[in-house]
Amino acid sequence: MPSIFSKRSAILGAGRHTTVAGVLFSFAVVVAVVTMMVLNALDHVAQKSNVLDDERSRATVSGALQNFVSQFCATLNDYAAWDDAVKNVYATDGMDWTVSNYGEASVNSALFDIAIVIDDDRTPIMAYRDGKPMDGSLQDFVSPALWALFDKVKASGPRDVPEASGFIGTRQGIAVAGVALVREKSGALAAAEGQHRYLIFIRHLDARKIDEISAIYVIGGLKLVAPDFAAPYSVPLDDALGTSLGKLIWISRAPGDIGFADVRGQVVEAICLVGLFFIVLLIIGFMAGRRLKSEEINAREEAHRDRLSGLLNRDGLRVSVDALVATAKQTHHNVLLLYLDLDGFKEVNDSYGHGTGDQLIRAVAAGLRVLIPDGAVLARIGGDEFAIAFASRQADAAALQLSEHILDFLAEPLEIGRRVVVIGASIGIASSAGGSVDREELVRRADLAMYKAKEAGRARMTLYNPAMDTDREERNALELDLRMAIEGGDLTLAYQPLIDAVTTEMVGVEALVRWNRPGHGPVSPEVFIPVAETSGLIEALGLFVLRKACETAKDWPELRISVNVSPGQFRNPAFTDYVRYVLRQTEMEAKRITLEVTEGYMIQNPKRTRQAIEQLKTLGVKIALDDFGSGFSSIGYLRQFGFDRIKIDRSLVMDIQHSDSQREMLKATVALARSLDIPVTAEGIETQEQAATVRQFGCDTLQGFFFGRPMPAEQITERLLDARALKAGGRRINAA
Ligand code: C2E
Ligand code: MG
Ligand code: MG
Repeated sequence: MPSIFSKRSAILGAGRHTTVAGVLFSFAVVVAVVTMMVLNALDHVAQKSNVLDDERSRATVSGALQNFVSQFCATLNDYAAWDDAVKNVYATDGMDWTVSNYGEASVNSALFDIAIVIDDDRTPIMAYRDGKPMDGSLQDFVSPALWALFDKVKASGPRDVPEASGFIGTRQGIAVAGVALVREKSGALAAAEGQHRYLIFIRHLDARKIDEISAIYVIGGLKLVAPDFAAPYSVPLDDALGTSLGKLIWISRAPGDIGFADVRGQVVEAICLVGLFFIVLLIIGFMAGRRLKSEEINAREEAHRDRLSGLLNRDGLRVSVDALVATAKQTHHNVLLLYLDLDGFKEVNDSYGHGTGDQLIRAVAAGLRVLIPDGAVLARIGGDEFAIAFASRQADAAALQLSEHILDFLAEPLEIGRRVVVIGASIGIASSAGGSVDREELVRRADLAMYKAKEAGRARMTLYNPAMDTDREERNALELDLRMAIEGGDLTLAYQPLIDAVTTEMVGVEALVRWNRPGHGPVSPEVFIPVAETSGLIEALGLFVLRKACETAKDWPELRISVNVSPGQFRNPAFTDYVRYVLRQTEMEAKRITLEVTEGYMIQNPKRTRQAIEQLKTLGVKIALDDFGSGFSSIGYLRQFGFDRIKIDRSLVMDIQHSDSQREMLKATVALARSLDIPVTAEGIETQEQAATVRQFGCDTLQGFFFGRPMPAEQITERLLDARALKAGGRRINAA
């Protein structure tokens, strides 16, 4: 039978899986976003670092170029502002010096590869390239920018340094060119204007020079390209006329990219690791949560379970019946609830101990488990109370049928260990059609029906009906009034004479409790004694009767006193002590007291009855079996329990005048008792004939309206006084 709890945990479990998946998905998204953000930031840093490095490279390239140009200018200055040069360049015979010091120096020079000396009209006097005289026209070889430099030098004033440099284009490529007036070191020059000589140095930015710069300044891939070459970073080479000759470019080192490429893997790994860590954390958290949840469910289930039987307990039943009622509202089924109280469980417990009692509960639980229909809820809701709830299309029929099976099962003697115990059950049934009756009311009805079943005599089932509620109310009111009557001492005793069958003398009285219920009048003990039994009032009531009877009987020393004892009193292990205590308190002789017990209790608890009878007999009191013949009792019981007397029930006496079989039965019963040496009292003698018959059969004591109704103590006293007077008169006559 899948419990409601297991269903609920399954639902919870499914919900939890979706939550886990959801959280894991969200978490994966977060990890991905974080990874992207970190990588983006790193990329940004890398780009920034690239830009910075490129800026630095450009500064370096342009610095290197400036450095080259300034070295070039310094060389030009050395060669042009030179006293020896003035002597030779301006002299007509100075050509050799000029060629040797200027022209031929252009070979293998790191500083210039072309050396030219020209006059004011731009006419070359000497033109050497790589140590050899240049061919062709100088004008054709160089770009006009050179002449712009030349013009600048030529136009320079006395305060200016007559030198100028800049980039120019040549047939060979791009070059740095410098023009300087040949003059003395001091700057003085004797030659007149128009007769000046100018030294021109040109240094081409050839591949070697570029490689050299590249190597010295550690700029990878430095090269000269055309001005229109697209490059993110470059250093332009413009001539004096503003013409773009070309530009220097280099390979960006992109240190950011390199760094980024280096760390990217590690960063991703690190984030993945962090992600993994959190996933593990998450999983551990979820597992812990799940464990807690399942522990919680277990604890809740535990809390709804009865440890002894393994069935649901009262709380578990509450939850289950609520669920059944809720479902029935939708399915329009009926919810049937059976309340079941074991008859005689207390006695098994008392007689054989709690171990046997526990075993009995387990055995009953196991039996019920087999009998209930599929899907039914089975609970133990008290010491010996069980409940069964199930949904059914049928109305009460299904419950009645199940109850019948249960009663049949419990009617069989149960083997508990080496013992065989006989119990029974009272079953109350209530139903909730289509869930129309809620759990609380359903339980109340089933409980009430169960009490009715118990009251009606055990081992039966009772269906709830609304009249029970009024009964119950009346009963509750009666119980309340009875309690007040006991506490307020409002109960009284009536005494019914017990007559010697031979002498017809009153030899004893039976004390019978009387209650005049305020507002209602006299209530029969047959009505209120059972109420006292089930409400726990019987002990106080019984004690009152015994004490009152003993006190009153002190005035009647010649009479035996019979007092009725209820099963509820008999069940109490301290009962003997109570009796002893009352006898001592009232100074009553034990042998004058007869306790009358009915058979119902004995049948259920033979062992306990025997023990109680034995104990009471040690006090000296006598025990009579009351109402013999009204129930199941057999003569065998008499022997077994050692009764001192039996009282034949009124029902057996009633019809002896009209029914032969009844007469025979009475006759046989009395004969049997007498054969066991047990004296017999006949109850309910209403006529002379009945008295004569039972006397004839062998009853030694007679009781009934014919001899006297139950009466107040005073009337008994009067009768006694009359009898004593009669006796005294008789003695006097005898004496005379
Ligand atoms: P019981 O012990 O068998 O008492 C005899 C009952 O039969 C009494 O009814 C009595 O009035 C009635 N009775 C006696 N002779 C005749 C007769 O000739 N004809 C008819 N029709 N009835 C007769 P009562 O007083 O109503 O008591 C009913 C039962 O209530 C008692 O039956 C006894 O079982 C119980 N009871 C009465 N007093 C006490 C009590 O103090 N303690 C306990 N535990 N039970 C009591
Ligand atoms: Mg009696
Ligand atoms: Mg009786």
